[in-house]
Amino acid sequence: MHELVLAEDIFKKAMEKAGNAKKVKMVKILLGETRFTEKEELVECFNLLATDGPFEGGKLEIEVSPLRAKCGHCDKEITEKTLRLDCPNCGSTNIEIVSGQELKVLEVDCVY
Ligand SMILES: [Zn+2]
Repeated sequence: MHELVLAEDIFKKAMEKAGNAKKVKMVKILLGETRFTEKEELVECFNLLATDGPFEGGKLEIEVSPLRAKCGHCDKEITEKTLRLDCPNCGSTNIEIVSGQELKVLEVDCVY
């Protein structure tokens, strides 16, 4: 299950940031939309991992970063959900992904 692996990843990153916090109340992440399919499922997986220790009862907040790409040849922005491998404008395959693949812990609200 993809979401569980992702949740474990988030959990690990959040723990690094929390250090030796006594309690973690909230974890806010920036997540690219290409990295997950079901937001609710991801939150559920996170809740499963956060059943004991400092993360108990902690909430996961997800800020979704939309998929954006642009053509490296003509600079046309490509925002289609199913990313093409060639530019719809000039046919170049030099496509650069600008956003939509992030996994970043933005904020950990915790008590020390
Ligand atoms: Zn192009």
